[in-house]
Amino acid sequence: MTTQQPENAAPASRKVVLVTGASSGIGAAVAARLVTEGHQVVAGARRTDRLQALAQHTAEAAGRSGGGLQPVRLDVTDRADVAAFVQAARDRHGRVDVLISNAGVMPLSRLDSLLVDEWDRMIDVNVRGLLHGIAAALPVFTAQGSGHFVTLASVGAHEVVPTGAVYCATKYAAWAITEGLRQESDPSIRVTTISPGVVTSELADTITDAGAADAMRTYRAHAIGPDAIAGAVSYALAQPPDVDVNEIVVRPTRQR
Ligand code: NDP
Repeated sequence: MTTQQPENAAPASRKVVLVTGASSGIGAAVAARLVTEGHQVVAGARRTDRLQALAQHTAEAAGRSGGGLQPVRLDVTDRADVAAFVQAARDRHGRVDVLISNAGVMPLSRLDSLLVDEWDRMIDVNVRGLLHGIAAALPVFTAQGSGHFVTLASVGAHEVVPTGAVYCATKYAAWAITEGLRQESDPSIRVTTISPGVVTSELADTITDAGAADAMRTYRAHAIGPDAIAGAVSYALAQPPDVDVNEIVVRPTRQR
């Protein structure tokens, strides 16, 4: 009996990788690197013009490697949107091998600034967005008997700094949810948390509080490029199935 494969099914040596927040910074670098390594990347974010540009930018590498990048509009705060993101990838490629939950926002401020809407947004994107991804992909990974969750947490998942109470709380939560997922998961499912230090990206652009923005200019003065994080993701994905890289912290040598 032959099983009909979807037209774009990737060979088993190449993975079907979903990346949330792929329109800039770390997500874009991860997506681009994985395309050069021959993976089929489904890149999600709200700014689809950026995703289209990334698809064009990686087209030549995709031609060489046999990989590919498919842009998909995605809002991780919308549970149905995330479910559709995962389902569309499964329909197109026949399986989903990796979900990289990278989408995040960081509008830092002191608690007494009372920027409650920004607190809510961080919880919605950084925590609920992560949970929506797990809810969508876990049944798929369980049915397949394989899968890999990768969460982009932060050094802020390990320490709290002034103006970072809510952001760090969301990253502590991301760390805890991902560690709980690892402990509960069947051994056929791998779980990785990657915690970057200061990385060049658009992350600090979401800060509206003048004091926090000022402090960040000094804090973020010595950043490393997002390729450093893409390398860590690539390493975790490339391990054999019985090797589960659980946690990687990557920060600039000058960040103490
Ligand atoms: P960027 O701001 O450059 O990228 C954030 C990405 O998240 C964008 O692609 C954005 O896409 C996406 N995003 C935001 N909101 C949503 C949403 N509702 N739905 C879907 N996508 C969304 O920042 P980074 O690349 O730095 O951030 C990536 C991750 O790395 C984040 O989780 C961040 O917390 C983490 N991190 C970053 C560090 C750094 O120093 N850069 C340090 C530690 C952790 P769009 O707006 O198009 O939807």
